[in-house]
Amino acid sequence: MISRTGPDDRIMNAREIIEVEDANETIGCDGGSGALGHPVIYLRLEGRPHVDCYYCSRRFVPKMPHPESAA
Ligand SMILES: [Zn+2]
Repeated sequence: MISRTGPDDRIMNAREIIEVEDANETIGCDGGSGALGHPVIYLRLEGRPHVDCYYCSRRFVPKMPHPESAA
């Protein structure tokens, strides 16, 4: 059958999304505790909208992607 259960791309690959306070900050990820734990690595957004940890696939996004609030 080709009936779709209607999964979004966003839902299909459920990954944890972590908001970071500062897009310019170096992000340290150790996967948290439990099965996904891994040696800490450091990621940088470097202007990208998100960066994924290549160990645990957690996705880091800047908390405020558009710094265009009323200035
Ligand atoms: Zn990780």
